[in-house]
This record gives sequence, structure tokens and C-alpha cells, in this order.
Amino acid sequence: MNNRRDIINVSIVFLVALLYVIFVNERIGTIIFIFILFGITIYLHFLLNRRFNEDKESSLGVILKRLDKSQRENEETYKRFLSLSKTLGSGVFMIDDEGKISFSNKDIENFFNKDFNNLDYNEIVYIKPLYKFVNKAYLTEQTQREQISYDDKVYDLTATPIFEQDMFSGSLILVHDITLLKTAEKFQKRFTADVSHELRTPLSAIKGFSEILNRDNLEKKDRKEFVTLIQQEADRMEIILKDLTTISKLDRLDYDLEYSNHNIKDVITESVTLLKAKMEEKELTFSGDVEDCTLTIDKVKMSQVIINIIKNAINYTDVGYIRVDGFKERDFYKILISDSGIGIPENKQDLIFKRFYRIDKARSRDTGGSGLGLSISKNVVLKHGGEISVESEINEGSVFMIKLPLKK
Ligand code: ADP
Repeated sequence: MNNRRDIINVSIVFLVALLYVIFVNERIGTIIFIFILFGITIYLHFLLNRRFNEDKESSLGVILKRLDKSQRENEETYKRFLSLSKTLGSGVFMIDDEGKISFSNKDIENFFNKDFNNLDYNEIVYIKPLYKFVNKAYLTEQTQREQISYDDKVYDLTATPIFEQDMFSGSLILVHDITLLKTAEKFQKRFTADVSHELRTPLSAIKGFSEILNRDNLEKKDRKEFVTLIQQEADRMEIILKDLTTISKLDRLDYDLEYSNHNIKDVITESVTLLKAKMEEKELTFSGDVEDCTLTIDKVKMSQVIINIIKNAINYTDVGYIRVDGFKERDFYKILISDSGIGIPENKQDLIFKRFYRIDKARSRDTGGSGLGLSISKNVVLKHGGEISVESEINEGSVFMIKLPLKK
């Protein structure tokens, strides 16, 4: 715009001088005209030079600005990628087209006890399964997915190739720790197998007895006996299914116990009263000393725990006594259920809290147990923020202790 105005101005001056020379036609005029012409040439030269420099500066400025912007954008993207890789909860690393690890996050270092940054991927050869996977991803330049085991952990690996203008420029490798998932899967499988095994036993018994019942030559007395046996097995199945329902409810993450305030002495006394007849039947003496205390508990579930442990005490004691004590100790209320029964070997004292674990399968069957009672009890006590444990000596007896927090 400015350029054009300058050129018009200069042209007007030049035209006036030219007219002057043509119409006045004298020597001085011609000399003046030549000077003007000379001046105009120099002026135009400087003018154009200045404009050119200005243009050059401004376009250089634009380029620099653009460069600066794209650098800032790159830094921003990198920062975002870094923070994403930190909060991802999974490992991520990148290898470039020359096989160098150009980026690796903290999780990778935690998983494999090594900072992978700036290493050549051949340097992780000692992490055999990971190296094999990376090598395959790098050589094939293709997406890969695999699960590997390393150092007692299971990892899920995904490699995604990166291409720049159709040229392979590296691979992005994601590493998820799926150990917990795998353990849960294994646990679930074993549990399902255990459940079907536990149900199969009474079911086959029922099938066998009913086949015998079908025989024509069976005496009335025997017939009655088999019907009773079938009823017993059906009852056992019912107990197992009931306990399984309780377990599956307690296992649900969103399952909440129904807490309210209760005097624990009343809860214990009610539970003992329910089992008094059973103790008398086996001629076991009962004693106990239970302190009053208001606790925030799920009364139904806690009663089930106390009943279950006293029931066990009765079932596994042939002579002697059952004792129940309850008292406050520091921040806890302790319930002790003691018996003079068969006792539990030291190496089995942790195992009895596991699902379906019984020391003497036949004895547990005779008492109608599902093998799930203590595992349910432990689950309920833990949910109350408490602890459950046992001290026992073979042929001397056992003491089960439930510790419940005074404040919830
Ligand atoms: P069960 O239905 O078999 O009683 P539990 O989970 O209640 O299942 O108990 C698991 C196992 O722990 C029992 O089978 C038994 O071997 C052992 N056990 C539990 N309580 C006692 C006890 N008071 N004395 C001896 N053994 C016990």
C-alpha cells in the first residue's frame, strides 16, 4: 500500500520535471531534470531496499513465531503424554527405528527394577519373555499381544507399531500388571471345582440310595433307613447351598453389613441359649463370664459367627467343657470360645479358615458341616474391622478369639 503511494509521488515529481524541460527548453532546466532523475533513482533504490528488508524481517518473524508455537505445542503434548503415562497405572515404553528405548515410564522401572530410558532393547535380554516380545514386535513391525510371567507376576503386553509417512519409526509397548486378575481367575476356577465336588458327594449318595430304594425285595426297616439317609444328604446340600449364598453375598464389593448398636452380652447370651440343648445332649459343661458392652455390629451376621464357633466347639468336643468369655481390652472387645475337644494341629490352624478346608472330612460330614463356617466367620469379622484367631493343642482343646473394635 505504502509502496504504491511512494511510487505515485515520485512519478508526479518526475512528470513535473519532464514537462518543465519540454516546455521551458533551457540548459539549466535539463541539468535540474538530470539531478531530479538521479535523486529519484537513489530514492527509489533506498525505498525498495528498505521495503525488501522490512518484508524479509516480517516473514522471518512469522516463521520464527510459527516455529515457536509448534515447539510449544510439542512440549505441551509431551507433558500431557508424560502425565498420562504417570497416572496410567501401567507401564509404557517406546523404542525407535534403531531399537533404542526413547521413553520409558516409572511403572516399567517398578515392574522390572530397571530404568529402561536410553537403553538399546538388546540390553533387556535378561528379562527373557519381555525381550522376546519386544524383539518380535520390532522385527515384524506389527501389532503384537501376549501375556508373560516374570518374577511371580503376570503381565499383559501390547505392542503398537508407529509409522511416519509409511516408514516404520518404532513401537509403543504397553505393559499391564494382571497378577491380581489372574489370581482371582485361578481362585474362581478352584472355588467352582470345590463347589461341584462338595455337591457331588451328597448328590451321588442320594442317587445311590434311591436306586437301592427302587429294589422290590427291600425290607421295610431298610427302606426307612435309606429314606433317612437321603434326607440327611439333602439337608447337607441345603446347608452347603445356604452357606454358598452367604459367601457370594459377602464377596460382593457393594455388599454392606447392616450396622446398629447392640449390647454384645445379649448377642452372646442369645447364641449360647440356642445351643444349650446340644451341649446338654453331649453332657458338656458350660461356663462363661461376659462383660456388658455396646458395639456397632451387624447383629444377625455376628450372631451367626458366634453360633458357628460354639457349634464347632460342641461338635469337636466329646468330653469336658465349653466356655464363653467376653471382655474389653484396650481398644477392643474380645470374645473367647474355649473347648476341651480334639484340638487342631499347629500347621492346620491357618488353613481351617479357608473355604471347604476340614481336618477330618468324615467327622465334619458326620456333624453336618459344610466346611464353609469358619471362612464365612472370618469374612464377617474382618468386615467389622476385627480379627479372628485360634490357639489350640491336640487332645487338649481349642480357644477361638474374636477381637472387635470398640469404636467403628
Ligand atoms: P465345618 O463345617 O467342617 O465345621 P468350619 O469351617 O466351621 O467347617 O471348620 C473347618 C474345620 O476346622 C473343621 O472341619 C474342623 O476340622 C476344624 N475345626 C473347627 N473348629 C474346631 C474345634 N473347635 N476343634 C477342632 N477342630 C475344629
